[in-house]
Amino acid sequence: MLKDNHGRTINYLRLAVTDRCNLRCFYCMPEEGINWLSRAELMTYEEMLRICNLVVKMGVEKIRITGGEPFVRKDIMAFLSDLSKINGLKQIAVTTNGVLTAPLIPELKKLGIRSVNLSLDTLDRDRFLAITHRDELPAVINTMEQLLQQDMDVKINAVVMEGKNIQDIEPLVALTKDLPVSVRFIEEMPFNGGDRHYNSLAWDYIKILETIKESFPGITKIQDPAYSTSYNYNIPGHKGNVGIIAAYTRSFCGTCNRIRLTPQGMLKTCLYDSGVMNIKDLLRAGMSDEESGAALLDALNHRAKDGWEAEQSAQHESMAAIGG
Ligand code: SAM
Ligand code: SF4
Repeated sequence: MLKDNHGRTINYLRLAVTDRCNLRCFYCMPEEGINWLSRAELMTYEEMLRICNLVVKMGVEKIRITGGEPFVRKDIMAFLSDLSKINGLKQIAVTTNGVLTAPLIPELKKLGIRSVNLSLDTLDRDRFLAITHRDELPAVINTMEQLLQQDMDVKINAVVMEGKNIQDIEPLVALTKDLPVSVRFIEEMPFNGGDRHYNSLAWDYIKILETIKESFPGITKIQDPAYSTSYNYNIPGHKGNVGIIAAYTRSFCGTCNRIRLTPQGMLKTCLYDSGVMNIKDLLRAGMSDEESGAALLDALNHRAKDGWEAEQSAQHESMAAIGG
């Protein structure tokens, strides 16, 4: 089992396959985009597969594909097919904005991918446009419906933003009445790829919960699964459930089981660090899998104890360059 210097098990990799995206979510990147990585900087699929094989041999059991928007990268389905053949990899999950996803669901299922996190911050078309700068709500709703019809395990991610979607908290929770979805509200993190900074958070998990309670007083805490980053709740009579992710408050670091790989191959041992080593560069310099594995173990032996410590020597970038 892969462990870090604080005794935490590491069994989960979040792999951002691209920094490009077909939306421009206000909280993630500026409307004009970010400084996109050049093709040479981007990991090739061969490099990603090699690293995934390596980390699975070391103890990683689950890989989440994220980005940027994973489905804008060319040939992503062929990559997912290769990934699904890795021996010992127990689960592949995907995080997507849902714009291009609906037609791909049958193929995802064939590859054994059952778990999709869909980002959806509002059910209102005008507010969707204001938040993402693209008029794509109907496509995203269609993806949600198709995912459910095709029996996928669906989680909806909604970032809670003062002045943007507070009025959407209640209707998003209401979705869980008839739909078997998990709606998770995320504290906004300072990863917007621009110069919008803040030192305190208007909508922390406590305020989000209090707001939900006003409309759903019966909301009840349920047991959180192992390694969960969300506080989970259900509401009597609802088919789905509700989660709140204290992503800014960082109350989940004590059981953090995840590492991240950015599109250019940077290993992040914490969401809040700036990257601890570039694995792609090591491979391109001719390092063997054994040597890269040893470098990875060394990085895990120097892991920050939490996101506050990791942030001290870090700079904030766009979430599209991290993967969420
Ligand atoms: N494009 C895909 C999507 O939006 O689902 C995958 C990548 S996106 C960076 C992954 C997750 O990060 C999304 O659920 C998104 O809402 C979340 N995210 C992006 N920027 C964030 C921020 N500043 N604070 C909190 N969550 C953020
Ligand atoms: Fe794109 Fe996802 Fe970032 Fe929105 S959150 S801009 S969909 S990468």
